[in-house]
Amino acid sequence: MMNYSKNMKKRFNKLLLPGLLTVIIGILVIVSCSAIDEPLPETVAEGASVDITEHIKQTTASTAISTEPVIEQVSLGEYKLTAYCGCSKCCGKWGENRTLDESGKPIVYTANQTIAKEGVTIAADISVLPYGTEVIIDGHRYIVQDRGGSITGNKIDIYFESHQAALEFGVQYKEVFIEREVENND
Ligand SMILES: [Zn+2]
Repeated sequence: MMNYSKNMKKRFNKLLLPGLLTVIIGILVIVSCSAIDEPLPETVAEGASVDITEHIKQTTASTAISTEPVIEQVSLGEYKLTAYCGCSKCCGKWGENRTLDESGKPIVYTANQTIAKEGVTIAADISVLPYGTEVIIDGHRYIVQDRGGSITGNKIDIYFESHQAALEFGVQYKEVFIEREVENND
């Protein structure tokens, strides 16, 4: 009887110890598994920090855009505006024997060898407003492409396709603007 129970105790210990070890190892595995799981939020946080970096980059980019020079209109004061067309009444000898285009209209070359275009071409004193200068009159943008003997100082001659339109324009006095880049001090 005693021997039997002793044997049972031995057998119990034999079974119990490995069993306990298994449980302990099991717990360790679970703990270590959860330890492996834990860095996951960190990975998410890393991702979030990447997003923040991207956001900062974008913010920096938009800040860079806002620090680019700003275009500002500057008044040149009041100009005397007259009008002309390509005819000999308006252009004297320059208006004679002009080459005709396909539709039979005379091709009007300006003093800087540009084909004159209504709504774009103006003549100015090129020592004041050089060829290529863009000016704004009544919110409309014209380009200095021509000059004339009587167009000096603060005078501008506006090109029209028809003599009649030029006559109708007559003489007007208007404020003339140019655009220039200014530093953005924001
Ligand atoms: Zn004319």
